[in-house]
Amino acid sequence: MVTSGIKLNNLTKVFTSGSREVVALDNVSLDVPRGSFTALLGPSGCGKSTILRILADLEEESAGVVTIHDESPRQIRREHRLGLALQDASLLPWRSVRDNIRLPGQVMKLPITKERIAHLIRLVGLEGFEKSRPSQLSGGMRQRVAIARAIVANPEVLLLDEPFGALDEITRQRMNEELLLAWAESGATAVLVTHSVSEAAFLADRVVVMSPRPGRIVGEVAIDFPRPRGPELLRTSEFHAVCDQLSGMLHGGMEPAHAPAGTGTPS
Ligand code: ADP
Ligand code: MG
Repeated sequence: MVTSGIKLNNLTKVFTSGSREVVALDNVSLDVPRGSFTALLGPSGCGKSTILRILADLEEESAGVVTIHDESPRQIRREHRLGLALQDASLLPWRSVRDNIRLPGQVMKLPITKERIAHLIRLVGLEGFEKSRPSQLSGGMRQRVAIARAIVANPEVLLLDEPFGALDEITRQRMNEELLLAWAESGATAVLVTHSVSEAAFLADRVVVMSPRPGRIVGEVAIDFPRPRGPELLRTSEFHAVCDQLSGMLHGGMEPAHAPAGTGTPS
């Protein structure tokens, strides 16, 4: 039985361009429990996308070991056990909403039923737009198509790189609520990259805070708010306290490095 989640062991990534070396990640170790939702929070350029790209087998590590559910990222990708949604929704412009969501099933030659597609379209609130092309949709709607496409084949692992980064706050919050519904249904181990403190606190079971480049892990905070989570959570003092704590860590505050899991939520 597979019980391991995602493990990064002393992961280092150095990019070389000409004679210049850029250390993007410096000895990052991380344990993401299987089935959990973990947010990687850090400033721009700290290596968040690099971590995600290594997990997605789009980039190779310079040193260290990465395993996903006891396998290498390559194995997980080859077996199509991965769902990926990136900052630009990267839909195929000539395909309809429905056909974009169907795409992974076609690539993997998996039978995905019409009912499954219809269910996902309802889940992300795109009923009535099944036949629309991406150019006929708003940015938020395109991102919702990307989320539906990422989970259509029931991936074990869901990797999300600032999927709502380009959206206004209100749309983004609604997207986050829909994302949580979709994730809860999928049971996937999810890793979301974000530079938004409130997004990380709203979505995740655990927030991992990174330092500016070279990316290192500054600390981790367990987020114990009960699920399902809705917009009312955003107005609670507990939520504000967690956001304050995360901001402090992000901006090099006084919080202890590596706060033990479970002690992260202020009382
Ligand atoms: P983030 O997603 O946290 O904003 P990235 O992971 O995209 O950060 O990048 C981390 C650092 O690595 C940055 O300094 C970036 O310029 C550098 N970097 C990323 N990809 C490459 C690449 N292919 N070649 C050279 N440098 C890169
Ligand atoms: Mg990035």
